[in-house]
Amino acid sequence: MLSESWKRKLINFTHSGVGQRYPLRTRLELPKTVLGRKLRQRKIMTDPFPWLTKIKGEVKRDELMMAHTSIRIGGPADFFILPKDIQDLQIIYRQNGETPIFALGEGTNLLVKDNGIRGIVISLKDSFRSIHPPVFTQSAEKKETAVIRVGAGVKLSYLAKYAARYSLTGIENLVGIPGSLGGAVIMNAGAEGTEIGPFIRSVTRVTTSGEIEVLKGEEITFSYRKSIFPSAGGIVVEAELELEKGDMKTIHETMNSHLERRSSKQPLTVPNSGSIFKNPPNDSAGRLIESAGLKGYSVGQAGISRKHANFIVNKGNASAKDVLGLIAHIQDVVEEKTGIKLEREIVVIGG
Ligand SMILES: Cc1cc2nc3c(=O)[nH]c(=O)nc-3n(C[C@H](O)[C@H](O)[C@H](O)COP(=O)(O)OP(=O)(O)OC[C@H]3O[C@@H](n4cnc5c(N)ncnc54)[C@H](O)[C@@H]3O)c2cc1C
Repeated sequence: MLSESWKRKLINFTHSGVGQRYPLRTRLELPKTVLGRKLRQRKIMTDPFPWLTKIKGEVKRDELMMAHTSIRIGGPADFFILPKDIQDLQIIYRQNGETPIFALGEGTNLLVKDNGIRGIVISLKDSFRSIHPPVFTQSAEKKETAVIRVGAGVKLSYLAKYAARYSLTGIENLVGIPGSLGGAVIMNAGAEGTEIGPFIRSVTRVTTSGEIEVLKGEEITFSYRKSIFPSAGGIVVEAELELEKGDMKTIHETMNSHLERRSSKQPLTVPNSGSIFKNPPNDSAGRLIESAGLKGYSVGQAGISRKHANFIVNKGNASAKDVLGLIAHIQDVVEEKTGIKLEREIVVIGG
């Protein structure tokens, strides 16, 4: 039998500790694996980065990445920073030392592993969302074009609709892509035969040493779902797009038909991270997966969508381990049946 004082100590202990730092709702939503990880979270006893106090934006610790990925998977990031401005970014890149930094967009092409991210995650969602009105010019041949300067945190779908308001054509095919402009530049996002790369006139980024660098579009190598900058790393903060004047009615019709087609073909009501694999030359990853008989196949709570075989959906509380297991299974089966090794499109990070 426990004495009254020991009982009280036990009750106090149960109601204190790491778990109490998160609201009850968040804790109940956690999949078991991540909950397991959370219960083991270490306490940071001393502040390893005193310079964090200089950041004007928000700094969070042990932020669950599942709240920031469209597939709703991902353990905690040690530090999650929402910088207020470029100076905040310069502080981070100049002071981080050996600590890795990860630039996050809307998390729509991302799988964060269950143990989360050791290091700093930067999200531009809060403060890099401005769009400057288009600046129009006319060529000698009377062709009208406009340049729009856009913050990296602006959603691509919003940008496409914004451009349409000024009858600007070029990126209407990209209206259904759910990521940010920064993510679109890095991934060279594309749909319906259009990629963002050719419309990029310049990109501004903060380099790994905290310098502000402006690169011309031609200096960046864009290829299928990939962009390569002349030197690695850093974070894209802004881009300029050059678009042509078109017909507003046609632009709106194109956008509407793309959005309708997407909602009929993609599992948009279930958490997912877009296409898992790149399309191999002259074929489609979805077709290969479907013809291998894998539509609907699951590992744990991660399943191949019945609507689109190149989408993996989170059926409830899937873990990154489930998704990675499913990805490996798809690659094995498709390779065995067709000889084609599917290449992953989604970015996988964390431990
Ligand atoms: C339902 C659905 C449909 C989709 N359809 C398409 C489609 O048709 N075509 C297509 O191309 N994609 C598609 N995607 C995938 C995704 O939306 C795109 O790849 C998008 O461009 C990713 O942007 P993001 O902001 O979400 O980037 P994230 O997923 O957050 O990050 C992707 C990569 O970009 C990097 N990154 C992001 N922002 C920055 C920055 N500011 N500076 C430096 N690096 C950065 C990250 O570090 C990471 O490496 C779809 C996704 C979903 C969920």
